[in-house]
Amino acid sequence: MIRCALITIGDELLFGNIDDTNATWLSQTLTNYGVKVGLRFTVGDSTSDIHLALNAALDASDIVILTGGLGPTQDDKTREAISSFCNRKLVQNEPLLHMLENHFAGRGPDIIELNRKLAFIAEGSEILPNAKGTAVGTWIEEDRGIIISLPGVPYEMKNIMQEEVIPRIQSRYEVEPLFVRWIMTVGQGESSLSVALESIEHNMPKGVKLAYLPSLKGVRLRLTSAKERQKDTEKIAADITERLGSLVFAKEDISLSCIVHEMLIEHGIKIVLAESCTGGNIMATLVKNPGSSQYLLGGHVVYSNDWKAKEIAVGPELIESYGAVSEEVAKAMAEGAIKNANADMSLAVTGIAGPEGGTPKKPVGTVHIALSYKETIHHRKFTLHTDRSVNIALTTTLALNMIRLALLGALDA
Ligand code: ATP
Repeated sequence: MIRCALITIGDELLFGNIDDTNATWLSQTLTNYGVKVGLRFTVGDSTSDIHLALNAALDASDIVILTGGLGPTQDDKTREAISSFCNRKLVQNEPLLHMLENHFAGRGPDIIELNRKLAFIAEGSEILPNAKGTAVGTWIEEDRGIIISLPGVPYEMKNIMQEEVIPRIQSRYEVEPLFVRWIMTVGQGESSLSVALESIEHNMPKGVKLAYLPSLKGVRLRLTSAKERQKDTEKIAADITERLGSLVFAKEDISLSCIVHEMLIEHGIKIVLAESCTGGNIMATLVKNPGSSQYLLGGHVVYSNDWKAKEIAVGPELIESYGAVSEEVAKAMAEGAIKNANADMSLAVTGIAGPEGGTPKKPVGTVHIALSYKETIHHRKFTLHTDRSVNIALTTTLALNMIRLALLGALDA
């Protein structure tokens, strides 16, 4: 397998002003095409640091891809750094110069002069045209490996990768895309899943790899192998899916919200929501799926006690006796909402998102979810996290999962 190193360049990356999405996208794309990304470096706009990274990258890779620092301004150092590293003069490329002069015509002599810098590329490099911008990419073949330089602007970089770099890599090397199988799970953390899958992992055929990718939306399991191991990988995927049962919500890389959306449409269900601690986040998550009007009647964001009483008739005496964050109130919210809307299903959440408001009996992260469906009110209590945004995200995931389990008939009261 050919090995690639990535060098993303820019002070803004080191200062933490922007996320290094270029490195993430490049890693995913190259891996999908069967190129191993073995090393990643992030460096500032500094010639010596770019040299340092190039040296280390070429020691261990066939290909090095750099992004950023190709612009015309003083802080853009990449073209000079590559030219000095390779000991190749920067030479003006005539066709490129004409193209730039035409592009910047009418913007004043200073702008034209500044951007003439973009026509200088290291001697002997091949130009990778940039259909979306003015800074072209370059491909340089050195004894130690291939050095590819791309602009930092993500959509420009991606376009040059797809149109120019990937086809060149494919025609030069025998790269074969990895075989990938996804198993999407929700309801258990990665440690519990790992314990449940221990014996399967223990007997996994050589060459098949299992990765756990946890997030607040569930744990994605990714199986990868070379193409000739496809059958083994399919078998392991089937074994894992069977072992995990209703924890598995999809066999492709798709979100839980998308699956719940499809299931609600398929079952012809009309649903209404009553949200307290999530402040409408469950509704917003479902609404992102086009076509949600087929099942979503509406929702109540009932944050205060008064509003719970006013909108969905949650009795003040119930709140007085059990507290707003309680099984009784969650159930009353679900009941009030379904009656109001004449829906097939209602879902209600109430909880303490934090950071304030917790007590020893009801700590921050206490959440009650109630779901009313087919004359039954199902209820679950969870003790989640201390972080407010984590609690909102996790409650949303758990609530969506309750809808899924109810539709599967796998939710007991
Ligand atoms: P330009 O011709 O626009 O100057 P450039 O190649 O010099 O292109 P940079 O100046 O390094 O690119 O970056 C331009 C913008 O692209 C940055 O402000 C940032 O928004 C984005 N960018 C750069 N590098 C990355 C990265 N690694 N991940 C995500 N975005 C990036």
